[in-house]
Amino acid sequence: MQNFIEIERLKEKAAALGVSLDETALERFDIYAKALVEWNEKINLTAITQPQDIVTKHFADSLTLLRHLRAKHAGTLLDVGTGAGFPGLALLIADPALQVTLLDSIKKKLTVLQDILGRLSLSAALLHGRAEDLAHDARYREQFDAVTARAVAALPVLAEYCLPFVRVGGTFYAMKSVTAAEEVKDAQPAIRLLGGDRPQCKTMTLEDVGERCLILVGKRSATSQKYPRPSAKIAKEPLGQGKNLPKTK
Ligand code: SAM
Repeated sequence: MQNFIEIERLKEKAAALGVSLDETALERFDIYAKALVEWNEKINLTAITQPQDIVTKHFADSLTLLRHLRAKHAGTLLDVGTGAGFPGLALLIADPALQVTLLDSIKKKLTVLQDILGRLSLSAALLHGRAEDLAHDARYREQFDAVTARAVAALPVLAEYCLPFVRVGGTFYAMKSVTAAEEVKDAQPAIRLLGGDRPQCKTMTLEDVGERCLILVGKRSATSQKYPRPSAKIAKEPLGQGKNLPKTK
């Protein structure tokens, strides 16, 4: 039977990222791409619908994170604002031993992900709600080795959403489309306040996608219970802007 995506191309792109995909994983990526396009006709999930673009802009891009997770021996991963499952579900397909939690504020997207997980015979925890609310729930707060987000918010906002979920010693990974040096600089005071280490930027050029920037933030100390602040407050005054940072000695 004809595949939906070009399997060999995906295999090569993944190999270039140091990710070896077996037959099962390749078949699952094919099923995922097909289901994504099918569901996208009913609910707006992604503007990327051409099979060759799904391979590069969704799958390969998501897989850029895997070697970093492996280097840190991450066993648990939370994907904040996962949408149609990027990068979390793609990472689970590549490494089914990862314990993946997919979080989104839009219930319909999680219904889609539940259906796709069923088709793939994979399981992940699905969390419905806003990150800034769920981060106060003791079941999730400071529980994850790795927390990631792609295309969700600017870094100071994203750090406030994500760092509270990271266990001390774990890492927050923000996936950005362009070199985010300025954004990183602006977010540094907020990151420090939230218990994060100095951010590290890893830039790379992904073939057929362009420049990508992965921002890694290690969690050095527990986040104060004051954070995340309520949604309206975060939106109105991102940490580090205005006068909302306490004075440091
Ligand atoms: N990460 C996916 C990707 O890269 O394809 C989806 C990106 S989409 C532009 C942003 C997603 O984040 C949406 O699904 C939206 O519902 C979700 N989102 C935005 N703010 C959120 C919040 N505060 N808590 C939970 N989900 C949020």
